[in-house]
Amino acid sequence: MAAMATSSVPLRSALAALPAYIPGRTVVGAIKLASNESPAPLLAEVQARVAEAVAAGNRYPDAGAIALREVLAGRFGVAVEQIAVGCGSVALCQQVIQAVADAGDEVLYPWRSFEAYPILTAVCGARSVQVALRPDQSFDLEAVIAGVTDSTKVIFICTPNNPTGAALSAPELTDFLDRIPTRVLVVVDEAYVEYNDTLDVMPAAALLERPNVILLRTFSKAYGLAGLRVGYAVAADPRVAAAVRQTGLPFAVSRVAQAAALASLEPDVEAQLLARVAEVVAERGRVSAELERVGYTVAPSRANFVWLPLGAATAQWAQACEDGGVIVRPFAGVGARVTVSTAQENDRFLEVAAAAALTFAGR
Ligand SMILES: *Cc1c(COP(=O)(O)O)cnc(C)c1O
Repeated sequence: MAAMATSSVPLRSALAALPAYIPGRTVVGAIKLASNESPAPLLAEVQARVAEAVAAGNRYPDAGAIALREVLAGRFGVAVEQIAVGCGSVALCQQVIQAVADAGDEVLYPWRSFEAYPILTAVCGARSVQVALRPDQSFDLEAVIAGVTDSTKVIFICTPNNPTGAALSAPELTDFLDRIPTRVLVVVDEAYVEYNDTLDVMPAAALLERPNVILLRTFSKAYGLAGLRVGYAVAADPRVAAAVRQTGLPFAVSRVAQAAALASLEPDVEAQLLARVAEVVAERGRVSAELERVGYTVAPSRANFVWLPLGAATAQWAQACEDGGVIVRPFAGVGARVTVSTAQENDRFLEVAAAAALTFAGR
């Protein structure tokens, strides 16, 4: 083995200050409800297409992901030029920042929200401006609007929000967008949109009427492809989409990922995937009600997880769940996010949560 050395190579100071992205833990024998994944394996139809793509793995993928972008463009009624695909939509978050923010520019977002935002912002050399959620965990949009400065280049709005599950209604989002200067790019991160069963969601077509909006979606959650890494952006302005494509790594979306995404959008396959989403939504109602019944405060969720604002008790509660064989996602001092899974796994979680309720509920 070669020797390990300590160099005098200067590393960017931004890196030392980065919060680490904490992936959901995987513990052998435990149920993992920590990463908002689909509990179901790939459908046979999707696996078959993946296998074909694997066999052709000696060839580079289509760098422009044209076939996938054409299907997506057709769905949104936009031009192929308005679509960008990425290695998960988390990559697109980074590409968006790199496309519009120079060193020191501001990236504004409600907080707490997706934990990748502060990390990617810092890696890009931009500056995070975080606007606290209200005490009831809803967005404080007035404060976000007040937070816009001449240096603001990007605003991230995650709806439904990870990890709180709250979603913005169409009138709320419309009013917000009306009041943001059109020189600021607004990223509407819709990673969980398929689980939002409220009636007044702002439709993509209405969002895309606004020149400074870009939507982000992913195949990782409702479409169950988290391990294959593919997401996409739809921009109102094709210039913005082109810039987002420019900042991506060449060939970042593998042949396998493109094939799986295309297979998932075929009507008979998608119908099965959306039936799974409906099951999760039904289970979310059951899990929330049962948690409340045993004494927990549960935020109303529009996503595939529930949020328990446990405050100072969070880490201890998560440990109690882990001791019971269920891995949840704690945010120390704030709350815990628990993915809604199959009825069987949810039952197991509910048992553990009920046992812990005597100690932790009502906080
Ligand atoms: C999961 C998630 C994403 C995207 O995940 P990818 O696997 O990178 O596509 C984006 N935004 C939020 C808020 C998420 O929770």
